[in-house]
Amino acid sequence: MSETCDILISGGGIAGLCAAAAFGHAGFRVICVDPAPPVTERDVDGSDLRTTAFLQPAQELLEACGLWARLDNHAAPLQVMRIVDAGGDAAEPRIVKDFDAADISGKPFGWNLPNWLLRREMVARLAELDSVDFRPGTGTDSLFTREAEARVGLSDGSRVRARLVVAADGRNSPMRQAAGIGVHTMRYGQKALAFAVTHPIAHDNVSTEIHRSGGPFTLVPLPDWQGRPSSAVVWMERGPRAMELLALEPAEFEAAMTERSCGLFGPLTLASRRTLWPIISQSADRLSGERLALIAEAAHVVPPIGAQGLNMSLRDLRCLLDLAVARPGGLGDRQMLDAYHDARIRDVKLRVKGIDLLNRASMAEARPLRDARAMGLNALYSLAPVRRTLMQMGLGVR
Ligand SMILES: Cc1cc2nc3c(=O)[nH]c(=O)nc-3n(C[C@H](O)[C@H](O)[C@H](O)COP(=O)(O)OP(=O)(O)OC[C@H]3O[C@@H](n4cnc5c(N)ncnc54)[C@H](O)[C@@H]3O)c2cc1C
Repeated sequence: MSETCDILISGGGIAGLCAAAAFGHAGFRVICVDPAPPVTERDVDGSDLRTTAFLQPAQELLEACGLWARLDNHAAPLQVMRIVDAGGDAAEPRIVKDFDAADISGKPFGWNLPNWLLRREMVARLAELDSVDFRPGTGTDSLFTREAEARVGLSDGSRVRARLVVAADGRNSPMRQAAGIGVHTMRYGQKALAFAVTHPIAHDNVSTEIHRSGGPFTLVPLPDWQGRPSSAVVWMERGPRAMELLALEPAEFEAAMTERSCGLFGPLTLASRRTLWPIISQSADRLSGERLALIAEAAHVVPPIGAQGLNMSLRDLRCLLDLAVARPGGLGDRQMLDAYHDARIRDVKLRVKGIDLLNRASMAEARPLRDARAMGLNALYSLAPVRRTLMQMGLGVR
């Protein structure tokens, strides 16, 4: 015997949990499965020490599905995005440009939250929704579709029949592979270190991205940690250098990161474990198949620049949700899924390409390329309408 539901979500990462809350809140019967139970504490093995900067449109979606009320108190606002070019001979700023959210709206650009805390609050929200059945410890194994429904085999041997399968099962998405949808992948030989720091100089709600070589070094504001100003750091470097940094003793690592940060916040102190993430760009050839929608990293992966990854994922979710609510009787049918693909594919391809270019510019080792990057930043910044358009595009409102 197989169970039935409206929507089977494969994957309970942040995107999958969010999708479960959004569809459940809208009244659909949802089953969400993930073989890896979420880690919901900061200082334990396996916790995700990355943070997510939710940009304005993402925050509106979280609010609409009852999640924001749980997150608001833990969020650090991002008022200014500061881009620093430190590509000269010495590790010091040579160009500093501020993009202030006040130039385009009365709200901050976004709000930063730790991923482990997001998982904790999202799982708690799902427990409040009768319409959602979250099953950590169980994964999807197989997918068989017909025009009228999908049949999904689960790792506990059971089967679920659903009108729509949402693949939120990550960059190697088993559901995408089962549907035979290909991907285009670009590799950089680059990894990101993600961790938290404290520092003597306040961040004043400024997110700072420092470019030198190997990739950006980004400090994103967090609420104070143990009474000291704190930031989340994403430090991108070529793979071997990232491995060396990971292996350094804490005192040596702190000296290296303070130098890489150009000392902008004073001496940096490590305030968490260091975690390592491989960096790629990837986009799926199609965002939908029969009875299947791909969202988040199952659909697109980008290097962590400009806080685009999960924010693109929530734009996928917003689009899918609007289509489902507008015509509930057509949930998961071809008309809905073609409309989803058509509505999202251009934005996805544009952002994957744009972030790929920004990452390659940030990785530049050769001095002439680093100088060209600095000139490009200066030129873009000096034109006020271009600057405003870039800020709006970054937010995803254009
Ligand atoms: C260092 C770093 C910093 C980042 N910072 C930001 C940021 O500030 N803002 C932003 O918007 N984005 C950011 N991102 C991107 C963001 O973290 C990702 O987009 C997001 O975590 C991906 O979420 P996901 O749910 O798609 O994938 P994942 O987190 O990979 O989740 C996929 C889930 O699917 C599950 N799964 C696998 N197989 C199965 C199966 N057979 N059945 C069911 N489930 C399965 C996995 O267990 C996993 O839990 C960052 C990324 C990195 C690397």
